[in-house]
Amino acid sequence: MANNEEFFKKVVAHAKEYGFVFPSSEIYDGMSAVYDYGQLGVELKNNIKQYWWKSMVQMHENIVGLDSAIFMHPTIWKASGHVDAFNDPMIDNKDSKKRYRADVLIEDYVQKIEDKINKEVEKASKRFENFDETLYRQTNARVVEYQTKINSINERYVKAMTNNDLADIKNLILELGIVCPISGTKNWTDVRQFNLMFSTQMGSTAEGADVVYLRPETAQGIFVNFLNVQKSGRMKIPFGIAQIGKAFRNEIIARQFIFRMREFEQMEMQFFVRPGEELKWFAYWKEERMKWHRTICHNEKKYRFHDHEKLAHYANAATDIEFEFPFGFKELEGIHSRTDFDLSAHQKYSGKKLQYFDPELGESYVPYVVETSVGLDRIFLSVLTNAYEEEKLEDGSERVVLNIPAFLAPYKVAVLPLVKKDGMPEKAREILADLQENYQCQYDEKDAIGRRYRRQDAIGTPFCVTVDNQTFEDNTVTLRDRATMQQVRIDIKDIASHVDQKIKESKQFK
Ligand code: ATP
Repeated sequence: MANNEEFFKKVVAHAKEYGFVFPSSEIYDGMSAVYDYGQLGVELKNNIKQYWWKSMVQMHENIVGLDSAIFMHPTIWKASGHVDAFNDPMIDNKDSKKRYRADVLIEDYVQKIEDKINKEVEKASKRFENFDETLYRQTNARVVEYQTKINSINERYVKAMTNNDLADIKNLILELGIVCPISGTKNWTDVRQFNLMFSTQMGSTAEGADVVYLRPETAQGIFVNFLNVQKSGRMKIPFGIAQIGKAFRNEIIARQFIFRMREFEQMEMQFFVRPGEELKWFAYWKEERMKWHRTICHNEKKYRFHDHEKLAHYANAATDIEFEFPFGFKELEGIHSRTDFDLSAHQKYSGKKLQYFDPELGESYVPYVVETSVGLDRIFLSVLTNAYEEEKLEDGSERVVLNIPAFLAPYKVAVLPLVKKDGMPEKAREILADLQENYQCQYDEKDAIGRRYRRQDAIGTPFCVTVDNQTFEDNTVTLRDRATMQQVRIDIKDIASHVDQKIKESKQFK
């Protein structure tokens, strides 16, 4: 774990040093859980967005886009359940004055027991090479004991959460002997519910102003526009509406860099289907979305499903796609079969019919919905943590390289004159001008060529093109590949097709 923490710190520092992510308002000492994307971060983020949009909207004839406003009628959040139920249980430690999510304290405690189980099994399996029955029995007994403890904690925790029994959540924390990591004491306040929506006022005078919320998810903008899109686009069920946009949550604890922020971006798609067909579509989107993620990180083992046993009130099936971050497997995307909960609720609260006339069935109904909802910032973090590598090279030197897949890399090509004279800068700029038509490129003439290559490695540029004396003789340049560091000579006219081919290959899951 210590190594993973160390690794994660390096990634965060690298992200700042090279202009991917900065802490927000840094010169004013920053703001907790708010971050700004720098010059490279915005490129990577835009590339992820475009890739998602293309896969969802461009590649599906029955999915269209939407860009709804962040401010919406306040009753929308009443209908969706966010005003009454979008809460996290919080608890304060009276000595350290630190605030925690009560459910996270319990989940972390359970995680520690799970880690113990894994360690026991790992330790024992090493010694099982010479099978020892006594050891086998002892390990087994301990694993069963730990597992029983986990089950009983989970059962009580789920019951308390379901019944909103906050007193029992506190009792559980006390009984488990959970202490504040800062003060080390068990001096806890009662558990209270905390609504995660940010509110503000809309209107010019205090008396006439209405409370409005910053949307905590983009999905509701899709639901309330369901009929607008369906009618104006003459959409036939099944069809989807996709949206990328900011969402805001007043998270109680902000941890793990851009993994949990108070202002973040979601990429959501709501797929409207016939009642009764939702589970078929749920299974379809579950597989589709996993396939999509695996084109970003080709290591299959980094992803897993976490199917929900306890379902939210609006869902009849739900799963998370989890990614193995340096701090463990965590949710990247949620896929939910939301039934007709949202459209029916908006129908009830607005008094307007939100039904679809199905010409094949000859009847009207409120469609069911399957949702895919992924955090853009979390994909960004998965790309960054997966790409960062410190490599020891054969000559004894080291390099830091970001192995970002070429199709997502902020810059695709760096164009470099070998030296700053003999017409090389001019020739390099000529090549740059051509390539810029199609790719985001960088020009760099400062420092020795080796240092410039290292700089491009560190920001994940997959190709460097170097102009040298030979260029003037035969119109070729050196093309250096980030991953292999191999250099080949290539005709200037072939650079684009080579880069295109490599970009295409970089998203193919092998
Ligand atoms: P978590 O359990 O991690 O709080 P959630 O289940 O509340 O997430 P959803 O409401 O399903 O999340 O939101 C869909 C997606 O939005 C999540 O899978 C995640 O990628 C992203 N997301 C949610 N909250 C945040 C946040 N505070 N910061 C960054 N991304 C977030």
